[in-house]
Amino acid sequence: MSVPGEAVSQGLERLLPTYARADLTVVRGEGCRVWDAEGREYLDFGGGIAVVSLGHCHPAPLAAAQAQLERLWHASNLYRTEPAERLASQLSDRFGGAQAFFCNSGAEAVEAALKYARKATGKAGVVALEGGFHGRTLGALSATGQPAKRAPFEPLVPDVRFVQPNDVDALRAAVDGEVGLILLEPILGEGGVIPLAADFVAAAAAELDPLLCLDEVQTGVGRTGTFFAFEQLDVRPDLVTLAKGLANGLPIGALLVADDVAGAFAPGDHGSTFGGNAVSCAAASAVLDAIDEELLGDVRMQGAALTDSLAVLPRVLSVRGRGLLLGIEIDGAAAEVVDTAREQGLLVLTAGENVVRLAPPLTVAADEVEEALAILGRILC
Ligand code: PLP
Repeated sequence: MSVPGEAVSQGLERLLPTYARADLTVVRGEGCRVWDAEGREYLDFGGGIAVVSLGHCHPAPLAAAQAQLERLWHASNLYRTEPAERLASQLSDRFGGAQAFFCNSGAEAVEAALKYARKATGKAGVVALEGGFHGRTLGALSATGQPAKRAPFEPLVPDVRFVQPNDVDALRAAVDGEVGLILLEPILGEGGVIPLAADFVAAAAAELDPLLCLDEVQTGVGRTGTFFAFEQLDVRPDLVTLAKGLANGLPIGALLVADDVAGAFAPGDHGSTFGGNAVSCAAASAVLDAIDEELLGDVRMQGAALTDSLAVLPRVLSVRGRGLLLGIEIDGAAAEVVDTAREQGLLVLTAGENVVRLAPPLTVAADEVEEALAILGRILC
């Protein structure tokens, strides 16, 4: 459906060219679908890069954000607000006892984790993963194991040691008396949808001095079929970062600090003007209310259906990931598949050169999965 009077966007040259944008102007979204300025419909299996967790314009966060907009947008962190305290309590309940710091993005959540670990342990060293991704700010970039993204901005924050995912010996060798933080994505998202093995994460958790932070910016909030991906790894981290899907598309990030390592931050140690914004927090609370066992079961079921059907396609080498964060390793260039799929009305993502990434809304229906599979089946035959 086209939006009456909607003009095709103009002003691309007025945006700094930090993104390789497709020539598609998105003007409207509903559920798992978006529409462009000409009224063409697309099935959205990218979900705004794993952000639109309940689907575009989902009525629950929409109503919560609208009600909050009419009551109070922003009060600052000089005062208490009900939406931030409610959301922190919900997240603590999901985690099993934690305190939250709210910010506006995944990178900011990682920055908070880096600072928290330094203050709590008095140690500046960080162990992170080759191929890992934690964001574009200087601290988060310093812990991002992708040299091409780092190189133009060096020197970065010193003493980050990178190890290969799932190499337990390398992990143990990298941790010495200077390391205060081990920072891991349970499934490397941008780095190719590479799940960490339970024994590797257990080895990280067993290191006594450094805090273990699981970066669940991409994997959290139900994406992998449990609220936190770490629930499937049999560990309990000290710190967790969340963002992306938390408020269904409104900007928010969060650092969760487990109660047993709480107490390192005091007033003045960290802050964010917009952190804990009342509208984002109200929307996020509604998202959390909606993520129940039934929805998580659906995420696991649709993820399994996608995996089984994709794995047998001729050009597919493997399908990795959990729930509705899936990486299809293909024989060929992922970017070409993304372009062809878009031409055929399906939006998907890449995760590296030869991995097509799927991260549809968690609410995706069985017939929408079938529709996406039909398009991908034509492309990957
Ligand atoms: N951490 C992980 C695991 C991510 O996937 C991302 C973004 O893709 C980030 C951090 C950075 O989040 P943001 O882009 O919101 O700063």
